[in-house]
Parts: sequence; C-alpha cells; structure tokens
Amino acid sequence: MGCYILPAPGTKTGPCVAPCDHKDCAETRKLAAAPCFHCGRAIGYDVKMHFLGKDDDGNHRLAHLTCPGEVRPGVRVDAVA
Ligand SMILES: [Zn+2]
Ligand SMILES: [Zn+2]
Repeated sequence: MGCYILPAPGTKTGPCVAPCDHKDCAETRKLAAAPCFHCGRAIGYDVKMHFLGKDDDGNHRLAHLTCPGEVRPGVRVDAVA
C-alpha cells in the first residue's frame, strides 16, 4: 500500500480554506481530521500517511507513516495515546 500526503487547505490541490460544499474538500477534511490508528492524533495535512484498510463500519483506517507500524490486536487507539 502506498503512502499519501493530504494537501493543505488553500494549496492547488488542497481543499478550500473557507467552509464549502465540495465533495472532494469534505473528503480531504474528513481524512485529515481522522485519528491515526497508532497514535490517536489527527492525521493532519502535509504529512505522510497510509491507509490500513477499512474497519467494520467501512471507515478508512489511517496512520502516520512515521508512527510505529506494529498493530497489536485488541489494543485500543485511545489506550495507547
Ligand atoms: Zn471546496
Ligand atoms: Zn500517528
């Protein structure tokens, strides 16, 4: 699985700075606000991250590329943070 960088708001490919109704912008904001699977902090913009697949609800699991890649089953994100 490759890694991605979410473009910051206001950049050429990033979401609008002001609130808007664009579908792409909403998707990028949602991903940036999603918690890292490893450290529990928001993914944010301009940082390397990768997709870990989807959870049972169909939501993307994201993690910073720099966070430890080890996932121990049964360990909750908020217990690690
Ligand atoms: Zn927009
Ligand atoms: Zn992280």
